[in-house]
Amino acid sequence: MKEGDSISEAPFVPYYHEDIESTLEWLRQPQGKPPTRAAALALDLLKCDQDCRARGAGLSSLVPDHLPKKSGPIPACRSFSIPTDFSDFAKLVAETAHQFLILKLKLGSGDLEHDRQIVTTARNSAPGATIIADVNGGWTVQETQQMLPHLVDQRLILLEQPFHHDHGIEPWKELHRLRTRNPAVSIIRIYADESAQTADDVPKLAPYVDGLNVKLLKCGTFGGAVRMIEAIRKQGLGVLLGCMIESSLGITAAAHLARWADLADLDGHLYLADDDFAGVTFDADGFLQMHEGPGIGAVPIPR
Ligand SMILES: [Mg+2]
Repeated sequence: MKEGDSISEAPFVPYYHEDIESTLEWLRQPQGKPPTRAAALALDLLKCDQDCRARGAGLSSLVPDHLPKKSGPIPACRSFSIPTDFSDFAKLVAETAHQFLILKLKLGSGDLEHDRQIVTTARNSAPGATIIADVNGGWTVQETQQMLPHLVDQRLILLEQPFHHDHGIEPWKELHRLRTRNPAVSIIRIYADESAQTADDVPKLAPYVDGLNVKLLKCGTFGGAVRMIEAIRKQGLGVLLGCMIESSLGITAAAHLARWADLADLDGHLYLADDDFAGVTFDADGFLQMHEGPGIGAVPIPR
């Protein structure tokens, strides 16, 4: 969306079943209907950008002072799609590990042996990297239980969303019981992503996870993401800041929250063939480099 110098965006994600047409229709005729998630976020980010520009401040100025934040350089994370060719994958991981300290593997291929090989190949290719994995709901509790010893052996530190969010809270409870009985595998941190959308979902999951993934689109507004971080910290849990596949505009908006997260997983723009914006980037050592400027701080790339 654009108004004056302010521009904002929100991505479309298949599991919300929203499309461009219904979003444009709401933006043209909003009367009486709730906005689509994408419309609500785009409007909110536009307003945040305008308010912050008027004060000459960045979006991070909207985060309240009482929330604890990190100082110093913020290491970025690079993700890998599920590979088919392990020799190419090994090369890609080794190359990426020269720049980035944190690598994120996608698991849940439908074949546990394949998933195991992804983990082993990544570890052999990047012996010194911090490696985390996201199953995107692809395992059952039993499969997770089978895989955990291998993930621990390969020194993975975090596992995200092993079960599908449609299964509710029960699998989280079950995994928690299993981990309590087996301290050897409880060393790896378990995080929820799709199972927790907003701050309201945090308390019920909190007893069973070590942290949660916060994304602007899930929360619907920048302030909603801040409230989710606040709710997670209140429970003493970890914050993973995530994103969808979106341009540098959306990624840069999210990156304003990176100081309040334990891990910043913000590489969704690198999956686009054409990124229309220049914003947050990664330096040669894999640290986040914010684009300077008030508001969101990303700028259109002239074409
Ligand atoms: Mg995830």
